[in-house]
Amino acid sequence: MAKPIVAIVGRPNVGKSTIFNKLTGQRLAIVEDTPGVTRDRIFCDCEWSGHKFLLVDTGGIEPRIDDGLLAHMREQAQLAIDSADCIVMVTELSAGVTPQDQDVAGMLMRSGKPVVLAVNKCDKVGEPPMELYDFYSLGLGELIPVSGVHGHGTGDLLDAVCAHLNFEEDEEDTDDRITVAVIGRPNVGKSSLINHILGENRLIVANEAGTTRDAIDTMVENKYGKFIFTDTAGLRKRGKVESGVERYSVLRSLAAVERSRVCVIMIDATVGFTEQDSKVAGYAHEQGKACIIAVNKWDAVEKDSYTMDAMRKKLEEDFSFMSYAPIVFISAKTGQRVDKLFETIHFVDVQNGTRVPTGALNEMLARATAKVQPPSDKGKRLKVFYITQISTRPPTFVCFVNQKALFHFSYQRYLENQIRETFGLTGTPIKMITREHG
Ligand code: GDP
Ligand code: GDP
Repeated sequence: MAKPIVAIVGRPNVGKSTIFNKLTGQRLAIVEDTPGVTRDRIFCDCEWSGHKFLLVDTGGIEPRIDDGLLAHMREQAQLAIDSADCIVMVTELSAGVTPQDQDVAGMLMRSGKPVVLAVNKCDKVGEPPMELYDFYSLGLGELIPVSGVHGHGTGDLLDAVCAHLNFEEDEEDTDDRITVAVIGRPNVGKSSLINHILGENRLIVANEAGTTRDAIDTMVENKYGKFIFTDTAGLRKRGKVESGVERYSVLRSLAAVERSRVCVIMIDATVGFTEQDSKVAGYAHEQGKACIIAVNKWDAVEKDSYTMDAMRKKLEEDFSFMSYAPIVFISAKTGQRVDKLFETIHFVDVQNGTRVPTGALNEMLARATAKVQPPSDKGKRLKVFYITQISTRPPTFVCFVNQKALFHFSYQRYLENQIRETFGLTGTPIKMITREHG
């Protein structure tokens, strides 16, 4: 179910983002309307020889810190080691091997994670230059000369990466254990929630086998079902002292999202929405995960009878790209509405796995097109012949139409809303695919 994660690390200016853009084919506009995600994108779905993985450019992840380049690089590398299945270390031909490269290469090697070394800016085709061989001194084994700008060697690079990855069959996930990722900035209360849950429920700690990531999962069973909270390593171990010190790790969150069916996006009621919140939320949305917005520390908010409605309204605007996501106001400290959270997790998971029969879909289509006539352009009118659901998680529908160009966004939105209204698909993104048909 989870796609492997491949992280690109290396010194600034060696060409990480250039290579990232080349490998992802700059298909950056997959989802047009997810704010904060399409801008300065640092992660992208990749496909090579039929294998899918998530590529992450760690250069763009964390805000630069002031304690020097090497510290920054080490931190980047550590993130990659913690969360990725394969690491691409990028160096640059003309700069040769630098002390920082040696340091980071040493770290990567000791981690035991698969590493592929890319020597970038090898712009000339033909015989590899002599300087290339110096890079063997990093001790990373196989090295691949590439030119991020021209694209030479990027196919070899992808081959080498894929050779290290385990690809699971992409089968429909009907396990009755619901995998859940709790994501959010530091200090919003993620650890507190996990600890509260641990105190209240029968729990089993599982170290998920079969993944190369050092993930620790927390399993919980209660009257709402069986739940597996993914990647709780950092959350369960943390004590008071460390609390909040860990910087926001997008990569960690991405890994947790990738491995889950439901994402609980936690925000702090005393702080409210921030840009960072929408980044990972946007990713969960794009990946078709069922999502819930949990507003934590509700106990600490001074409130009257209007406060909740006002906050809900504001959040609906902030998270307008995922208007389907239920908002739950909780307190990890007092346990207020944590029950409700479990109930909601179960609910959105069911929605995310819903399958609508084709007959019912097309009855709905007939009613919807009768109510609002499809648009026309230059005398030609859109016809929607047929809708069918091809998969779940998220529910994915194919619409067969006479001419794609006529199927404007607004009419797609209209049909999507009709589907939601008719079949109650709340709490989950849905995907619409258009096909032209005779
Ligand atoms: P990052 O900081 O590692 O992400 O590096 P960038 O991707 O921003 O690239 C830094 C500079 O190197 C830019 O000016 C790029 O145009 C340049 N660059 C990247 N790849 C190549 C390459 O393959 N050949 C050459 N000659 N320049 C490159
Ligand atoms: P994390 O970094 O997201 O894991 O956040 P923590 O769980 O470490 O919580 C950060 C701080 O917020 C700690 O001081 C907690 O005691 C406090 N906190 C967490 N949840 C609540 C809550 O529901 N109410 C209040 N008042 N404080 C909370």
